[in-house]
Amino acid sequence: MTKQIPFFNYPSIYKEHGDEYASLMTDICSRGAYIMQQELLDFEKALAEYLGVKYAFGVGDGTMALIMGVRAAGLEPGSEVIVPSHTFVASAAAIHHAGCIPVLADCGPDHLIDGSDIAKRITKKTSAIMPVQLNGRVANMDPIEELCRIHDLKIIEDSCQALGAKFGGKFAGTFGAAGAFSFYPSKTLGCFGDGGAVVTNSDEVAEQIELMRDHGRNASGSVSLFGYNSRLDNVQAGVLLLKLRGYGVQIEKRRVLAARYHEGLDGLSSVFLPPAPDAENEHFDIFQNYEIEAEKRDDLRTYLAERGIGTILQWGGKAIHQFAELDLNQDVPRTEAMTHKFMLLPMNTSLCFEDVDYICEQIHNFYNK
Ligand SMILES: *Cc1c(COP(=O)(O)O)cnc(C)c1O
Repeated sequence: MTKQIPFFNYPSIYKEHGDEYASLMTDICSRGAYIMQQELLDFEKALAEYLGVKYAFGVGDGTMALIMGVRAAGLEPGSEVIVPSHTFVASAAAIHHAGCIPVLADCGPDHLIDGSDIAKRITKKTSAIMPVQLNGRVANMDPIEELCRIHDLKIIEDSCQALGAKFGGKFAGTFGAAGAFSFYPSKTLGCFGDGGAVVTNSDEVAEQIELMRDHGRNASGSVSLFGYNSRLDNVQAGVLLLKLRGYGVQIEKRRVLAARYHEGLDGLSSVFLPPAPDAENEHFDIFQNYEIEAEKRDDLRTYLAERGIGTILQWGGKAIHQFAELDLNQDVPRTEAMTHKFMLLPMNTSLCFEDVDYICEQIHNFYNK
C-alpha cells in the first residue's frame, strides 16, 4: 500500500493530548462556565504576557478580530486601507465592514505584502495599512513603518497565521494599533471550532474592543456603541490556555520540519522555496504553512495525490483581486503570476522526518521522470 500523508490530520493531533482535553472540558462544563468566565480571563492574560502586549481580548473568530481591530483604530469612514491581494478574503471584508475601502497591493518573492508596492498605492484618502503576516512569516516591516511615519497612517495587522512569528525581535500583531489572531482548528494555535483574539497596546483601542465584542455593553450594562456578540467561548479559552503552554515546542517542531523540506528540495530548479528557518536574522518564522511555487503545479499535485500525499492551494488557488464581483483593483502582476504556481505542502506537528523525506523524494521523481 502507498504511504498516506494527509494534508492535515486532526484526529492524530487531538490524540496527542486527548485525555487532557477531555478532563478539561468535563471540568469546565460541569461548572457551567461557558461565557466570559475564568478560563477566558486566564487565557487573555497568558496571551498578552506571551506577546508582551498590554491587552489581549478573546473574540469569536479571526475575522471578527479584524473587523473590530479596524473599527477600533478609528479610521476616517470611507478612507482607504492597503492590504495584499494574496490573502484570505476576510482581510478585505474586515476593511469593508469597518466602513473603509480595501486597496490591493502586490506581494514580493516571499509572498508577503511588498513595501515598495504599497508606496505606489498611497493616496490622500489612505488611512491605514493592513499587512498580512502570511504562512507564519512577518513581512519586512521597516519600509511599512517608514511609510506610516511619513504619511501618518495606522497599521492594523492580520496576524491570523503568525502567532509567535517575529520581525526584528518584535512579535507579529504588535506593530500597530491592533493585531488580529485566529484560532481556527488548522492554525498553529488551533481550538476545537472558531476562535480569535485582538491584541493592542493602546488604552483607547482596548476599551472599544472590550465593549464591541459584548454588544457594546460595559460592566454596569450601559451601552455606548453598537457592538457584536463575539466572545471567545470559555471552553475554547480553556483548550487554548492548555495548548499555549506547549506552544514553543510546537513551533520548534514546525521549524525543524521546514528545515528538512529545505534540505530535501533545495537546488531543485522547478520549485521555489520559502526562506529556510535560519536564513535571515531579522525573521523568526513559525511556518503556519509551507508554501512553495512549482512548475507544472497541477500535474505535480496529481502525481503526489496518486502517491498518498495531500496538498492544497491556499484560498482555493485564488488571490482576492481575482474575485471580479468584489470590484477591487486588479493591478497586482506578481500576485497574479504567483497564483498559477503556488501550493502548500503538508506542514503540521503530526509529520515526521520520514514523511517529509518521502514527499521530497516524490517531488524529485516527478521532475526527473
Ligand atoms: C484564518 C485567517 C483569517 C480568518 O480567521 P477566522 O478565524 O477563520 O475567521 C483571516 N486572515 C487570514 C490570513 C487567515 O489565515
